[in-house]
Amino acid sequence: MNSKLGVVNLDFESSEIKRCVRALKEIDFELAYLALLTCEGLKPLSRWEKPLADDGLELLRQMGLLTKQIRRTVKTGKEVIETIFSRLPAYLELYEQRFENRPIDKSAQTRRFEGFLFGYPPCCVKEYIRKPYAANNLGADEREILFHWACRDCKITPVLLDAYKSIYNSLNSC
Ligand SMILES: [Zn+2]
Repeated sequence: MNSKLGVVNLDFESSEIKRCVRALKEIDFELAYLALLTCEGLKPLSRWEKPLADDGLELLRQMGLLTKQIRRTVKTGKEVIETIFSRLPAYLELYEQRFENRPIDKSAQTRRFEGFLFGYPPCCVKEYIRKPYAANNLGADEREILFHWACRDCKITPVLLDAYKSIYNSLNSC
């Protein structure tokens, strides 16, 4: 893959990787996108909040990702299962230690910790906590491929965007 930033290290000519990515896309495009971003190290850890069957977990593992399922609760007491994946065992352990069997919350502390795990720029996390969805300079097409809300005049997001775009495009050609 050609990329300005030299990201996209996975060998897309490898029929094995292509097969995994295609199969993940069939489950959900966003899941395949998260898997690639995580494989490439742009996201240290990703969380999938919808149910994921064994075949989906197996595809993530075949791409070199470690997976874990985490039990959480919502306010009503109902149980939810989250799937997290990362190349790095320490990130899975950090997530598990902090969130396993705990209620889902949206506190500033949680947002800061999640931002760290998910690879969000700290400036954007800080701004989002202060004022969610404050105006920024991104176009709708750029917002669509990011998972964080960029702060105004962010210095990190434009660099990340190039890397995200190249992965997003490679997904479409997969
Ligand atoms: Zn920022």
